[in-house]
Amino acid sequence: MSGVIYDRVALIGLGLIASSMFWAIKRGGLAGEVTGYARSADTRDTARRIGLCDRVCDSVTEAVEGADLVVLCVPVGVMGAVMEQIAPVLKPGATVTDVGSVKRDVIAQVMPHLPEAVHFVPGHPLAGTEHSGPESGFAELYDNRYTLLIPMEGVPRDAVDRLRALWEGMGANVEEMDADHHDLVLAVTSHAPHLIAYTMVGVADDLRRVTDSEVIKYSAAGFRDFTRIAASDPTMWRDVFLTNKEATLEILGRFTEELFALQRAIRTGDGDHLHDYFTRTRAIRRGIIDAGQDTAAPNFGRGQTQKATG
Ligand code: NAP
Repeated sequence: MSGVIYDRVALIGLGLIASSMFWAIKRGGLAGEVTGYARSADTRDTARRIGLCDRVCDSVTEAVEGADLVVLCVPVGVMGAVMEQIAPVLKPGATVTDVGSVKRDVIAQVMPHLPEAVHFVPGHPLAGTEHSGPESGFAELYDNRYTLLIPMEGVPRDAVDRLRALWEGMGANVEEMDADHHDLVLAVTSHAPHLIAYTMVGVADDLRRVTDSEVIKYSAAGFRDFTRIAASDPTMWRDVFLTNKEATLEILGRFTEELFALQRAIRTGDGDHLHDYFTRTRAIRRGIIDAGQDTAAPNFGRGQTQKATG
């Protein structure tokens, strides 16, 4: 594929996103050496056992020393704290990026600690599964999925293009946008839907007339898909809602209004309203399939492991 893009890459946090990056970087031969660091000794031991990273380091500073690219792959709520720790040892001219699901808040956390000679290019791969941890990653996760990059004022075009080349080498389609727009788009496409899935699964759990075994046994596609989304990592999603508060609340407000309108249509027997609404939503589904972001196969092509997320 693309050849070496960075001599040294450091992955900080070794969960689903970082481990998938590692396997995709290896597949494409995109880096000379990849170092890795995770907070817990358990995760570092697992990483060593499965050959995740060329070198797993016991300190975060050791992992980033001499790195040309540092990728922050930790939950959104701790990006700033990690940046503060690594700032003193970052190599001048290096690029720092992140994979966080929220952008404006991460930028606000990271920028105060950024050394002058280091460039920050925030990023977000729109790919994931409901699994987490160092053993959950796989090289194909980013194939044909979008990665969004946020080119910040004053950052050399070169730094953005190089990171773009890395993501493209990992199989992704790369687009650029500003942080506020990113947070609004993701609130619509990912954050609000996750909250709705969490709620729906919670509601089913509360319905004592439907026993747990019935919920599981008769679980039809709709509910089953909600349970899959609602199985996503609690720490990651807590941080997403706490850091993308404004955009998520804005979308949830609109959602509630539409829900009331549908509720009213059901109560008043307004079949035209329901039919028109469902015709419109069906066209959106068609658009997602045409854009190559999901399959038209029945039952969502079960057997696939991916879902658009984060
Ligand atoms: P994950 O599998 O749960 O892994 C998180 C990693 O971060 C672990 O290695 C963990 O270390 C480390 N970590 C957690 N808290 C930390 C702290 N306080 N200080 C230092 N390290 C810490 O998570 P992930 O799914 O890869 O998500 C990582 C990032 O990618 C998040 O910012 C998320 O928003 C973003 N993202 C996720 C998805 C998705 O679908 N999962 C999609 C796109 C973007 P230990 O193992 O030692 O606890």
